[in-house]
Amino acid sequence: MTLDVEAIRADFPILERRLPNGKRLVYFDNAATSQKPQCVIDAMSEYYEHYNSNAHRANHTLADEATTALEGARDRISSYFGTSPDQMIYTSGATEAINLVAYGWARENLSEGDVVVLTEMEHHADIVPWQQMSVDIGIEVRYVPIDLESYTLDMDAFEVALEGASLVCVVHTSNVLGVRNPVEEIIEKSHAVGARVLIDCAQGAPHERIDFDSLGADFVAISAHKMAGPTGIGCILVRRDAMEEMVPFMTGGSMIKRVTTEGSTFQEGHAMFETGTPRIAEAIGWGAAVEWLEQFDMEEVHGHINDIASWTASQMRGIPGIRIYGDPGRDDSSGAVSFLHESIQSQDLALLLDEGGFAVRTGHHCAQPLMDALGVPSTNRASFWIYNTMEEADSFVQYLQEIVDRFA
Ligand code: PMP
Repeated sequence: MTLDVEAIRADFPILERRLPNGKRLVYFDNAATSQKPQCVIDAMSEYYEHYNSNAHRANHTLADEATTALEGARDRISSYFGTSPDQMIYTSGATEAINLVAYGWARENLSEGDVVVLTEMEHHADIVPWQQMSVDIGIEVRYVPIDLESYTLDMDAFEVALEGASLVCVVHTSNVLGVRNPVEEIIEKSHAVGARVLIDCAQGAPHERIDFDSLGADFVAISAHKMAGPTGIGCILVRRDAMEEMVPFMTGGSMIKRVTTEGSTFQEGHAMFETGTPRIAEAIGWGAAVEWLEQFDMEEVHGHINDIASWTASQMRGIPGIRIYGDPGRDDSSGAVSFLHESIQSQDLALLLDEGGFAVRTGHHCAQPLMDALGVPSTNRASFWIYNTMEEADSFVQYLQEIVDRFA
């Protein structure tokens, strides 16, 4: 069965949008955030229109309905990620998820001189918390370089960096290069030396079905907003034994059992790490997004996106002055084409593309160490998802060619 992309597109009202200049929107900024299908928008509106109430607090009907919906979403989302609800902690996104590991696990379990291994292709969300831990508790941070020929991780260097490591934090799929890292091998090798492993799946989860229990990582960070869900929610999946080693880094309402003027006792398990009023509408929206995604075979989705990305990159390589960073033609690459033109500034190029209706991202993509490794301050990035089409890619390549013909 092939994907019915026209039917998929019909689920996304925004794809009908025309820009103020009358151009039809071609949305190629999916690695920044995906669009949301109508069912996600409806699920969130339904909550606000019919049962808006706080969860886990009162006994009235609306509060019951809100609590049931919040926990029902947790059941659905954790099951989608191949695990059970007790191993899932709601966060505001992947950034908070990684910070929770830094402040809730590392600060408690690591000390001066302990080694945390990162890669040069991490998002800032998986760099800065570790730099802070280095200031706070004196951990040593090591970075695994990328091989600039293949744009993949240098696995020999990884083995060297692993020596004596306590924690390894690796992005599943780069939001800049689209490259998927060999996370299974990384997890196996890290566990063999006794290191815990965190995998940042913010970019991977929209492209591949992540099965937490069989993957075997200790921590997996996920964002809803790149996989058809709303902004403001994500989670950290945590193996039970690792969760037992964690302490809360935010305290207050919801996460307590009993508070007196003398002190407080805390809830157990994931409830200890979810402080304050939960993100109820967002969780419900994410649950609806996961239900929507469940109808697709993610391998087919990946194949569709990969076809568009590799075709687009191959056409772009024929446009004089365009250089592509990464190898979108790889089978495991996931729909991000980062590029620059040798004489048209990246910001100017993005504005010219926007005039044609094409939304692409320009900048460092929150991955400045990767930009440093590539030797550029920024790139343009076209990133594709389930609802993009070959026709859109074709019109993009033609428009880019016209820009280059006119301005280069
Ligand atoms: N890691 C990667 C690889 C990402 O692409 C992103 C989002 N661009 C993040 C982390 C941060 O995720 P969030 O927006 O949910 O905080």
